[in-house]
Amino acid sequence: MTRLIDTLKMRSLISQIPSAHDKLLFTPGPLTTSLAVKQAMLHDAGSWHFEFNSRVSAIRERLLALTGVSHDRGWETVLLQGSGTYGVEAVFLTCVPPQGKVLVLSNGAYGERIVKMLQHARIDHTVLRTPEDTPTDPNALDAQLRDDPAITHVAMVHCETTTGILNPLSEVGAVTRHHQRSLVLDAMSSFGAYPVDLEATGVDYLISSANKCLEGVPGFAFVICQRQKLEACAGFARSLSLDLLGQLKGFDANEQFRFTPPTHSLLAFEQALRELELEGGFPARLARYQQNHRILVEGMRAMGFRPFLDPAVQSCVITAFLYRHFPGFDFLTLYRRLSDSGFIIYPGKLTQTDTFRIGSIGRLFPADMRALLHAIDQATLEWRHTTTAAPTP
Ligand SMILES: *Cc1c(COP(=O)(O)O)cnc(C)c1O
Repeated sequence: MTRLIDTLKMRSLISQIPSAHDKLLFTPGPLTTSLAVKQAMLHDAGSWHFEFNSRVSAIRERLLALTGVSHDRGWETVLLQGSGTYGVEAVFLTCVPPQGKVLVLSNGAYGERIVKMLQHARIDHTVLRTPEDTPTDPNALDAQLRDDPAITHVAMVHCETTTGILNPLSEVGAVTRHHQRSLVLDAMSSFGAYPVDLEATGVDYLISSANKCLEGVPGFAFVICQRQKLEACAGFARSLSLDLLGQLKGFDANEQFRFTPPTHSLLAFEQALRELELEGGFPARLARYQQNHRILVEGMRAMGFRPFLDPAVQSCVITAFLYRHFPGFDFLTLYRRLSDSGFIIYPGKLTQTDTFRIGSIGRLFPADMRALLHAIDQATLEWRHTTTAAPTP
């Protein structure tokens, strides 16, 4: 009887939890996820239990298959607790030899973050910068690799989420391979949408995370690499918890994370991968994001907002828009108004130019983009009217 009452009490408590009606996230991540992805987390999983561990192994296999590489050809997926940055840092802390040197190709905040982690780890490095609106230059890379034989690794951000610019992966891959250096690719915000052919482009370490285009919740990063290459890094690790080879050995030994795994995030990720498959894999997801992006840019242009980047180098992941110089325009006011209507956008991250950003990734569909545009139209009405009344010369 008491148990029945307890159950009933619990039921009534659960029914008071509001159904998922969260604000939509038009951000670089974490992103809006599906209800089923959130529901997958309503379970506890024992990290030592064989059932859970075989599900983790299946996730690792699934990520390889999605990337178009296989175990048989020596590829591995290493999952690592933490956000995406932890995965990127783990690669450098584990894989660069004591005398190694990294060339960082940077045109935004995430490239600069790599520079910062190398500084922290006291790993020798040099930076090849292009302006924030300019893709990495493969010719400059070629020259630098020719001139500096000490460079062992090249690091590039695939889609630099600061602006949404897409860097030239196949060209950079070809140059890096020609000079026989290792290529580290931060594919955080591109993986799941833009295909990366690891074997054709010569990427040695690809890093991404659960909560971007794969539409899971935050909790872990993953690195896809050749087992042999990673094993050749034995003894280099400058960190215990970010030791990528140590983590691989842990999975080898008992299919387990070495330290507490993000269990709920992994359960959610299983569902996110199922939904990716149902949608039609990477090509279908890319097509949806591209459609989202197209609707967004058209609608914003119609209201007078201009994207920061040239369309030729712009990805569909996220778009930076210039502040339009409406008298009185204020990003924080726009942000609050949109938030009140249920939409979260993002501030800019550029060093020189005032921009704000709107993402097209996550569980968002064309109808969501149109709803956002309508809200932006309403929220900017007064400024746009003032502008029409008193045009600036
Ligand atoms: C999101 C992102 C990261 C990782 O950021 P975290 O906040 O650590 O998850 C790294 N690089 C790029 C290009 C990203 O978009």
